[in-house]
Amino acid sequence: MTTESEDSESMEEQRTPKIPVWDLPDLPTGKLPPHLELQRTRVLCTFDAPTHTEKIQSSGAYASMGVDNSMQFEEFRNKFRVEVIRLTEDDLEVDMIGIDASLANAFRRILIAELPTMAIEKVLVANNTSVIQDEVLAHRLGLIPLKVDPRLFDYISENDEPNEKNTIVFKLHVRCERGSARIKVKSDELKWLPKGSEFVLNSEKSTADSTSKTKTYTSFSCSQDSLPEFSNNPIAPKHDDIIIAKLGPGQEIELEAHAVKGMGKVHAKWSPVATTWYRMLPEVVLLQDIEDEKAEELVKKCPVKVFDIEDIGKGRKKATVARPRSCTLCRECIRGDDWDKYVSLRRVKDHFIFTIESTGALPPEELFVEAVKILEDKCMRVISELS
Ligand code: SF4
Repeated sequence: MTTESEDSESMEEQRTPKIPVWDLPDLPTGKLPPHLELQRTRVLCTFDAPTHTEKIQSSGAYASMGVDNSMQFEEFRNKFRVEVIRLTEDDLEVDMIGIDASLANAFRRILIAELPTMAIEKVLVANNTSVIQDEVLAHRLGLIPLKVDPRLFDYISENDEPNEKNTIVFKLHVRCERGSARIKVKSDELKWLPKGSEFVLNSEKSTADSTSKTKTYTSFSCSQDSLPEFSNNPIAPKHDDIIIAKLGPGQEIELEAHAVKGMGKVHAKWSPVATTWYRMLPEVVLLQDIEDEKAEELVKKCPVKVFDIEDIGKGRKKATVARPRSCTLCRECIRGDDWDKYVSLRRVKDHFIFTIESTGALPPEELFVEAVKILEDKCMRVISELS
């Protein structure tokens, strides 16, 4: 009778066959034995939990086998590749090959928190008789993605005057007439004011020539639509069907919304991505041939159709791994009986499938390039500080 721990040890051996120590060469060969190479380069996904998840990056880790496992810049440069898998208006999927998880994660964090966009920061409410409180309304407006290139604007600080280089002004004025049906106020009601705010801050009367000078909440020196970058490219919300509020008969909203440049680390409304994430490349390996009924059983087990059936003649069939990239690691294929002796689930440690979903301010491919520039700047800063 075997104990539970003996069982799990023998299962581990099945997945990563160990080489007896007396079979190892006496002299360092400069190459790792297959089981160590597998553990170095792959996360092994067993039924209970993934194992060998750590990335070993040390010159001494395999020194006794004559293998220098330290980070080598030349090697990184030769191995690193970026392959575009899918590019649409809203999202981008790229494979980043030959990098460490820490770099992939740095890249993800830059995309979420350090790439600036323009978002509504200040809302001046002249009238709001809807059921939505001013604060909630302002919060909703802040989260509406704006289709404008943030690189064309400056950051505004507390003491700066809002001008045409640091502020975008929209107005929203909607009324639901008495006797009519309820209406939805959507983001297309936000109208860009290229000349800046229309709300009067104060008005000064000059006694000399009896003219009055009106001051508004912004100080634009020119109209933004006279600038070449906006003349044929009016600023507007990215989507015109985002519901802001619902108005009943007799209700009205009148406000001005001022958008400024900011970063996602201050508030999520400035994040240029709806989300961005990565996962390691899945690798599904058949440890032995799976034929006939067992092959059909395996195909049925996988909810995302990773496996296929191949006809091997004489009415016999064999299971093949057709779409390993689709594997979600649900582990259904190794559930029950001794299925883990047939199928091995792995993840490639230095191959990341990276997805960027843009909110619309910048196309996803430009977000990728901008994030690379920020990462480069950060590296240069660290290098200059160290030197
Ligand atoms: S882990 Fe799930 S998704 Fe992946 S191959 Fe097995 S059954 Fe399919």
